[in-house]
Amino acid sequence: MRTTSQLRKIWAPACERTLRVVTLHSGAKLSVATEVVEAFQALDGVMQASGYRPRPADTGAFNCRQITGGSAFSLHAYGIAADINWNSNPYRRDNRLVTDMPPDMVAAIKAIRTGNGAPVFRWGGDYRSVKDAMHFEVVASRTEIASGIDWATVALVPPDPTKPDSWPVLANPSNGPSVEELQRRLTAAGFVIEVDGEFGLLTERATADYQLSRGLDVDGIVGLQSWTALLTGQPAVDPDASPVKLGTRSPDSHPSTRPSLQRGDTGLDVVDLQRRLIALGFAPGEDDGVFGPLTLAAVERYQVSRSLELDGVVGLQTWTALMLAS
Ligand SMILES: [Zn+2]
Repeated sequence: MRTTSQLRKIWAPACERTLRVVTLHSGAKLSVATEVVEAFQALDGVMQASGYRPRPADTGAFNCRQITGGSAFSLHAYGIAADINWNSNPYRRDNRLVTDMPPDMVAAIKAIRTGNGAPVFRWGGDYRSVKDAMHFEVVASRTEIASGIDWATVALVPPDPTKPDSWPVLANPSNGPSVEELQRRLTAAGFVIEVDGEFGLLTERATADYQLSRGLDVDGIVGLQSWTALLTGQPAVDPDASPVKLGTRSPDSHPSTRPSLQRGDTGLDVVDLQRRLIALGFAPGEDDGVFGPLTLAAVERYQVSRSLELDGVVGLQTWTALMLAS
């Protein structure tokens, strides 16, 4: 098993990782390095299968700090460690283990392997001279992590179609078997996407379209509300309301709630912008959620046509005009 100083070298430099937020099944959030997102999703899958709930108030991850009493950085500074439920899993200098984590769950987390068979996590409750039961850290190398997670090694309880709350929260980016199931259900509901287990922009768009078609909150995130609809078919679709013509975050959203958009931005708001421009005849290219040169040119043509300030940036003034127009 790699030592902490080997892991520091592998994941250097400290405090400079590109971070992504992983939303756990309980709603708690972890900011971790982009490369290890899937690993922490697997860890959360095991916690969910064990009925163990990470509390949002005492669970967290990235922290640019040095280890207590030393000058080296903690693995939290590399985005490859997380602390779960620290109030009931305290750090103990006296080397006594105090934890509310079920031993089977901890064993199942330690059994997670990468695609090429390497162990993924070490538990702070196993440290020899101190005990840090809240703490899990990635012990895989970059190459090992790049081979993906072997989901066959992740002890998931098959989510129960009759229990929407047994399904994990999914958002861009996520991957794994529950993403495949989501994609199958979106496709069955008429929002055809590739079933590849990768929750990227296309799945996010299909999710948002599905949410809009069912009158759900439109956020592109598959939480309890969307799982309930997908699994039960409720609420039923009004045949006149589908397929969706125009995506918006929420039917009554106000221009002031929209983010300022400019070249280089991506995401659902860009899809919405592009669809509005298409509907108004300003040809921004495809509604692919990428604010590139064609979208920029269309925004500029739109601003000129409406005598708005010509800056190519979709701020409050341009959003207001677009939302009144459509
Ligand atoms: Zn920790």
